[in-house]
Amino acid sequence: MYTKIKTTAEIVAMRTSGDMLAQVLSVVSQLVKPGVSTQFLSDSAEKELRALGGEPAFLNYQGFPEALCVSVNDEVVHGIPRNSTILEDGDIVSMDFGVRFEGMITDSAVSVIAGKADAKDEALLQATKKSLHRGIAQLKDGVRVGDIAHAIEKELTKAGYGIVRELVGHGVGHHVHEEPNIPNYGKAGTGPILKAGMTIAIEPMATRGDYRVEIDSDGWTVRTKDRSRSAHFEHTVLITDDGAEILTQLAN
Ligand code: MG
Ligand code: MG
Repeated sequence: MYTKIKTTAEIVAMRTSGDMLAQVLSVVSQLVKPGVSTQFLSDSAEKELRALGGEPAFLNYQGFPEALCVSVNDEVVHGIPRNSTILEDGDIVSMDFGVRFEGMITDSAVSVIAGKADAKDEALLQATKKSLHRGIAQLKDGVRVGDIAHAIEKELTKAGYGIVRELVGHGVGHHVHEEPNIPNYGKAGTGPILKAGMTIAIEPMATRGDYRVEIDSDGWTVRTKDRSRSAHFEHTVLITDDGAEILTQLAN
């Protein structure tokens, strides 16, 4: 379903949804440390969100069993939180969360490092986050999907990272995933044209190795084939006439 131009009321609901999401990811990011289970992170996220009045949009989405996706090191996305997965010093922890409020959904992800960071992992995180903001900087009424994709690809390629291709950004709002897809690689000036009032999730996934990924036997966890470490950053953004409003970042 192609993402619609949202009404003022829908945008107001998405601002609240996105603000809740940003608050929750900020809280759980501070809980990431060696010795903590990924289940604890998910349970904490769900508890925080319900206290704020939102609903976890990923819980039971296509059968996903928990509120928060928690992917560690070579896991790229869709990692299932478990009591048995205990974080270790230096782990890259990617957390992807969806919030529904008054029927409107926002989607955002962040990668953080547990304990002491390896400098090369830290550089991967910084570059992936930077590429997300390069993509966001392209946004305005009339932008083409390829303009966003190319800006992200340029930043990550320059830094020498693999760009995951099988998973992409997307329209979001009434549903977790709406058309069009927003890839993290592509040619400027190509692809669907996006209009002011549309809301999309941009989400580069980068690796310290190759771009290829595979799915674990649990049917969910997406992992790099070469077992290289990866990072994931995502924001839900509203396209405006001359730019964009990031809906999933903390208000100042
Ligand atoms: Mg997400
Ligand atoms: Mg997404």
